[in-house]
Order: sequence, then structure tokens, then C-alpha cells
Amino acid sequence: MTIQLYNTATRSKEAFMPLDPSNVRMYVCGPTVYDRAHLGNARPVLVFDTLFRLLRHEYGSDAVTYVRNFTDVDDKINATALARKEAGAEGSLEDLVRERSNETIGWYHEDMAALGALPPTHEPRATEFISQMIAMIEGLIEKGHAYAKEGHVLFRVRSYTEYGKLSGRSVDDMIAGARVEVAPFKEDPMDFVLWKPSDDELPGWESPWGRGRPGWHIECSAMAFELLGESFDIHGGGNDLTFPHHENEIAQSKCMGHGFAQVWMHNEMLQVEGKKMSKSLGNFFTVRDLLDQGVPGEVIRFVMLSTHYRKPMDWTEKKRREAEKILAGWYWTIRGSSLKEVSDAIISPIKSDLNVSAAISAMHKMAREGQTDDLRSAMAFLGFPVDEALVSASIMDTARALDDIADAMHDSEHLASISKRFEELRKAALVTRDFAEVDKLKNQLTDIGVEVRMSKDGVELRPGPFFDRDQLEALK
Ligand code: AMP
Ligand code: ZN
Repeated sequence: MTIQLYNTATRSKEAFMPLDPSNVRMYVCGPTVYDRAHLGNARPVLVFDTLFRLLRHEYGSDAVTYVRNFTDVDDKINATALARKEAGAEGSLEDLVRERSNETIGWYHEDMAALGALPPTHEPRATEFISQMIAMIEGLIEKGHAYAKEGHVLFRVRSYTEYGKLSGRSVDDMIAGARVEVAPFKEDPMDFVLWKPSDDELPGWESPWGRGRPGWHIECSAMAFELLGESFDIHGGGNDLTFPHHENEIAQSKCMGHGFAQVWMHNEMLQVEGKKMSKSLGNFFTVRDLLDQGVPGEVIRFVMLSTHYRKPMDWTEKKRREAEKILAGWYWTIRGSSLKEVSDAIISPIKSDLNVSAAISAMHKMAREGQTDDLRSAMAFLGFPVDEALVSASIMDTARALDDIADAMHDSEHLASISKRFEELRKAALVTRDFAEVDKLKNQLTDIGVEVRMSKDGVELRPGPFFDRDQLEALK
């Protein structure tokens, strides 16, 4: 079976046919690096990490190029840098902006690694591709799709007849419904910014239109072109980006004559306890907040993967607790097992538009039926660490507690059978008046730390504080 992916552009599931199977190419819009990633930001990371793993499995790990950018040109980053400068921090504004982005990117790497996400092949920063953006903007002006005015360059939306096709909107509907900004330098309110001027308080780059900085949308078109070429296979991101960001990326790249992305994939949004995550509702938290509260990265990953990427996903306390139990159970089940080729029962559903929850059902079945090698391999494929040293300590503690429970149950069964034998020996001894056998067993038991209580009701055996489990095994 080929991989089937739902393409937002055609609104249907399609068989995935890479342009070049020896170089499968995917671009995913990454974060704007002004602060810690919130829990919603982790969703596209984990969705496309799963797709990346699937593509590597199908085409080979060297045959997939995954680009996820960092947007490090942003007013919120500038505001932080400016505030630091005003508070007396040393260095130029550019230095302080760079410092803030570096800091945020470092956090992002730490947090996403804690969730088990593989690093993409390339993680370009917008600020390192300014010349490519300028070149693309010049190209668009030359072709009549963009115009410069008052230090700004704008994309002429009416010049691209397919505009709105991805999101299924017509330009006139958009004007009627959207909050498009009217500005004196715009020919049409729909036109969007490719370049804008920077004053001395803002980072800027020299350009044919004066000192300025790029608009957000051109960043992705330019970086995707530079790193993946004119045409590539998959473009992804959250569905909040479909309009206007992706619509604008398409307009820019197609008007340059590029084929651009073949398949458009969008994850639905994450909510918290049924509500949109927002600072005003007080249910806003970052990935780091959860990790610091002791929620293991594996648990966040499990909860995220359990909901299909095209459905809204709800983060709840209940799901977190359940995931913790399931994972501890699985880690307990796979101890002593070994890795093998991941089973088709896992790959097949994932090939069907990333139906990870069906794969998870197959994993429950593996756990029930004791297919421990298969379960270990499935966990590894889905990005859960299987080397005990790399698993979060709290999950391993819960898994080991299961070990104790299982051992205790086993011990109690074993002790029950010994106490039955004890009882029989004692009954016989009461008749023969020969207690040698009874005493021998009693001594053996007390030697290994079992407390022996005899009463007229029978014999009770209980592990005492110096109970030695291994020796109980030897006691037949
Ligand atoms: P941003 O830094 O806001 O540009 O977002 C980075 C990525 O996170 C984009 O792919 C967004 O679509 C995605 N994203 C933002 N908020 C959410 C959310 N609540 N649920 C799922 N994805 C989100
Ligand atoms: Zn983008």
C-alpha cells in the first residue's frame, strides 16, 4: 500500500507520489521565536515528526529532507530586545534581538527533544536568508506581481487568479469578511507586505527599497526555494496558517514560476479541557511548564499522538493520567524484549493518513498478547525511547512499581501453595506426632524472612521485613 495523505489543496486523500523518491522533501512552518513554545506549538512538531519517521521508514533515512524554519524577524522579539536595551543591557539592538532568538531557539530544541521529536534536516532562520528574500521580491516586482511604494513592497493579490484556492475563499469574500488593513501605500486592501521599512529602533537590512525587513510570508517561500528547490512534496503547518499565510506563500512562489508544494497538510488546533488555550482564560501553558510539573515528555507525546491530526485535540488531566498508566504498563511489558523490524500492523494504519490511534490499538493488542518484541519496535518507531536509561525517571518508577505488584502477586500465589502444603503436613503430624517435617519447613521459611503464624484456624505465611524473594523461588 502506498502512503495516503489528505491534501488540503484538493480536499481529498491522495496516494502520495514523491517527485523524487530518492529525495523526498517536506517543509513545515516553524515557530516565531519570541518565547517558550506553548503546548499547541508542540502539535505540528509531533504530527510532522511522525510523518518524517514514516517517510524515512518508506524511502530510507537519507532520502528525506525535512525543513522547519525559525521566524526570527518579529515585532515581539524586537520589543523584548528593546526593553532589555532600555534596562541597560549591553550591545546593539541587533545583538539583543539575536540574543533573544538564540535563547528561545535553545529552549525550543530542549523542549522538543524532551518530546522525542527528531531534529529536522534543516532549521533555517529567516535572518540568514534575507538576500534570498530580497532576490525573490525583486523577481516578483519584475514580473508585475509586486510593487514598491513608500519604502514598502506589496504583493498584488489581484494579479494571481488562483488566490484563495487553498483555503476555498474568493478574493471578494475575503475583502468582505476579513480584517484587511487599508493603507495609503496599498493599491488594493488585499495586497500584503513583502518588505517594510525599519526605523532606527528596529533591526533592518539594506535593500533596493531602503533599510527594512521582510514580511512574514516571503520568509517561507524564500527558504523553501533555497533549501528544497522550486518544487517539493509536502508543506505542513497548523490549520490556523492556511489563510492568509499559506495562501500568500503559494501566491508568491507560484508567481515566481515555481511548482511549490504538491501536498498541503494541516493539523487541527489543540485545546485545553475543551476550551481554546489562552492567557485570558488562565489555561495557557508551555511545554516547559508541563515538564517542570513532572509530566514526562513521553506522556505529552502519547496524548498528542492519540488524537488524529485533522481533529481538534483536547489536552485533559484525565488523558494525561491514562497515558501515564498505559506507558508504564508498556515499559513494564517490554522489559527484556528486543528490537526487530516494525510490524505492518503499525505501519499500515500510519500510512493511511497518519492513523496513529489505530496503531496504538494494535499496540494494546501486542501488550495483551505478550508480543513484546513487536511492542518494543512499535514504541521505538513512534518515537518513544526504549533504552531504559533514556526513559523519564517517573515512568520507569511507575513501571517498576508494577514489577513489585506483579512480583507480590506471584509471591502471594507461591506462598498460598506453600501454606497449603504446610497445613497438610501439620494435619498429618498431629496424627503421627512426628513434627520433624513441619519444623523443617517452618525453619526454611523463617530463614528466608517469611513470618509463619500458626493458630487453630490454620497457617498464615507473610513476607517479613527480611523476606528474600529469590530464595522463595528455590523453595519447592
Ligand atoms: P507560531 O509560532 O504561532 O507561528 O506557531 C508555530 C506553529 O504552531 C504553527 O504551525 C501553528 O499553526 C502551530 N500552532 C499554534 N497554535 C496552535 C494550537 N493551539 N494547536 C495546534 N497548533 C498550533
Ligand atoms: Zn510558513
